[in-house]
Amino acid sequence: MNHFLTVTLNDTIKTALERINENCKTAVAVVDESLNLLRLLTDGDLRRAILDGFNTSDKLSTLSTSVTPFTVPEGISYTEILALLDEKEFDHAVVVSNDGKFLDLLHRRELTRVWLSSPHIGRLETKYVNEAFDTNWIAPLGPNVDGFERELAEYVGVNHAVALSSGTAAIHLSLILLGVRPKDLVLCSALTFVASANPILYQYATPVFIDSDLDTWNMCPKSLSKALASLKGRGQKPKAIIVVNLYGQVAKMNEINALASEYDIPVIEDAAESLGATYKEKQSGTLCELGIFSFNGNKIITTSGGGMLVSNNKELIDKARHLATQARENYPFYHHAEVGFNYRMSNVLAGIGRGQLKVLPQRVSRRREIYNRYLEGLADIECLVWMPELENTKSNRWLTAAILEPSKTTVSPAELIEKLSFVNIEARHIWKPMQLQPLFDGCEYISYESQNVSEYLFNYGVCLPSSSNMTDAELDRIIKAIRQVLLTS
Ligand SMILES: *Cc1c(COP(=O)(O)O)cnc(C)c1O
Repeated sequence: MNHFLTVTLNDTIKTALERINENCKTAVAVVDESLNLLRLLTDGDLRRAILDGFNTSDKLSTLSTSVTPFTVPEGISYTEILALLDEKEFDHAVVVSNDGKFLDLLHRRELTRVWLSSPHIGRLETKYVNEAFDTNWIAPLGPNVDGFERELAEYVGVNHAVALSSGTAAIHLSLILLGVRPKDLVLCSALTFVASANPILYQYATPVFIDSDLDTWNMCPKSLSKALASLKGRGQKPKAIIVVNLYGQVAKMNEINALASEYDIPVIEDAAESLGATYKEKQSGTLCELGIFSFNGNKIITTSGGGMLVSNNKELIDKARHLATQARENYPFYHHAEVGFNYRMSNVLAGIGRGQLKVLPQRVSRRREIYNRYLEGLADIECLVWMPELENTKSNRWLTAAILEPSKTTVSPAELIEKLSFVNIEARHIWKPMQLQPLFDGCEYISYESQNVSEYLFNYGVCLPSSSNMTDAELDRIIKAIRQVLLTS
């Protein structure tokens, strides 16, 4: 137990103030020699006592002890404690054992939920959004959409970009642009969020999932090579390859692109999680024929919902823009020759995106800093194996992820996640691989030799809270909670 949380009646007002200063909880618990709780003293109580004429050298026994503190029983979750504090409008809860002994003192600040990845708005977003309102550009399209496309393309160093309603829409249009039709084969990273693979089904095409490697957690070039060779042996040529950059780490793109060009198959880079990451000095999202970004609420920057499709091929982006606007032809009346979609981003949301793009470099450095803080704070915990960063690449560390090495701990990701949730910290499993999803029952999954990296990562991996607007105090709280779980199990 933290020594700074309690004082006895024999201590002075000065000691109580010093303890409060040390424990950063704006209060201290008064207990007797057997740790029975007598009262709670806040810094406000002590200040009032001094104004009433008490000296800092006076014993606490001279103060009134008639105030009954608010206590909660041990074993109650932080969510429940927080709800009680809200109801009673208190800031402090004293945790006591069944026989009334002091166990812990909690400030409301330590109980609030820490999210896995929350939106982090800068200063300029409202300026662009207000411009949209002031000029009545509330409709889809408008100057913010054009500006966001231009500014993002410039930022990542690509010639053409089209802002869309989601990253998923961007992947869907990519497949259409590459001519993916019913029964065509599309190769896709196995370890990913379902949004990477759903558009394959929208086209009634057939996914073939490719395992990860341990160096990047992303598509394994050896597994890809094996898949391409074996499909070729069966006389089958995939229409496209979707490569995902998980949690901000770029895949082994040189190797993957080399294989793709050997077999003459276009590659879509799913950079939904890796905006701002680099691969040999080039920005993620610009490494293949087509790149897609997502601005969903949990991503490194957000428009609350949205996506972008980028390419150096003007024809492809022009076509995507056409398809995303209901495939409306250039006629004086409404004229349509093919199936279109309503996939454009609204001018209001693009305003948020323009502001967010301005703070992207800061967001990347803060997320990388968070990763480093986890590494330092948990360096002595041997069972944690951190997601690597490939040489000559810079991950944006969208999420800090690690493996709980099964030969070194009996704690499973599920147990860690549950115990962190009890103290109001949101951690999550690694994405569940596509071949394990009932949705993709019967789909092919190809691994190199006897490895099954994606399932290993899913079974033993966790993602830790990584919001760029998380405070250092919250980070310390998370590290302490993880240590508690991993060192006491
Ligand atoms: C978020 C995400 C997407 C989809 O983006 P939306 O904008 O939510 O549609 C696609 N792929 C990956 C890997 C993602 O994490």
